[in-house]
Amino acid sequence: MVRVGIDLGGTNVAFGLTKEDGTLIAKTSVRTKKDLDAEALTDYIAESVFSWLKEQGINDEDILSIGMGAPGVTDDQIGEVVYTSNLPFYHTPAREIFHRYTKHPLRFANDADCAALGEMICGGAKGYKNSITVTLGTGVGGGIIIDGKIYSGFNGAGGELGHMVIRKDGEACNCGRKGCLEAYASATALIRDTVRAAKAHPDCAVWQLCEGDLSKINAKTAFDGMRLGDAVCTELVQQYIEALGDGIINYINIFQPEIILIGGGVSKEGENLLAPLREYVFRYTYGRDFLPRTRIERTVLGNDAGIIGAAMIG
Ligand SMILES: [Zn+2]
Repeated sequence: MVRVGIDLGGTNVAFGLTKEDGTLIAKTSVRTKKDLDAEALTDYIAESVFSWLKEQGINDEDILSIGMGAPGVTDDQIGEVVYTSNLPFYHTPAREIFHRYTKHPLRFANDADCAALGEMICGGAKGYKNSITVTLGTGVGGGIIIDGKIYSGFNGAGGELGHMVIRKDGEACNCGRKGCLEAYASATALIRDTVRAAKAHPDCAVWQLCEGDLSKINAKTAFDGMRLGDAVCTELVQQYIEALGDGIINYINIFQPEIILIGGGVSKEGENLLAPLREYVFRYTYGRDFLPRTRIERTVLGNDAGIIGAAMIG
């Protein structure tokens, strides 16, 4: 028996087959046809998935479960994609549409929650039951796993890890508030701060690293400058780590998970990010001197986490 996981993204729909325990067997992807309306897009996804399964020699009888992670809010009780931020879904009855192709009920979760579940089943949090995965990309997203299950609140919209205020009246956030973690710890925020620092310090290493073109600055630039021994870049990285650390301290104080995984582009810095992050976090975490400590590590599955987690929802 196999499981089927679908990771619905704004550019691609990735899907794959796993063993019963979540081990990935095969995967593929199709472009997300953005010109279709939500129902036609759902039908196109189902058609793509089931014709690929046929090519793989998989019949409906071989399937144990099928799940989909979507970039927004889903309702697994009713079987709907309730809302997506970059795609046209709005109370779209995706389970019903999938029943044109399969007798199995399509299960749902948020895509970041699926990635967190995938990491717990086969990745960096394997062996643990309580974990938080934080993704540092365009925004700050992630998922909370409690006792082996996704926690997403009563309405499916919980676990928005990027939208907690860490600096009152701070930087404007996409959610409408000011000072959210996302406005300080996303790759986007780090790039914004690196550009600002370059403008304020004409002698700093950023100018040399971007060859005088500020549009070439990326989330790695400040770390590269720090490695060159530049004081402005070292300060930028320190501020970034403290902002991220403030968010992580809050997660630990609320949930005390066994492990927190950091993923996304900025996590590629590895120990350059994690070692000072741990140092900062454990300077302030509640109970730091008398309780076992939460581990802070990198994600390991990359994009496969979303497929695996979706396959393992049900
Ligand atoms: Zn926000």
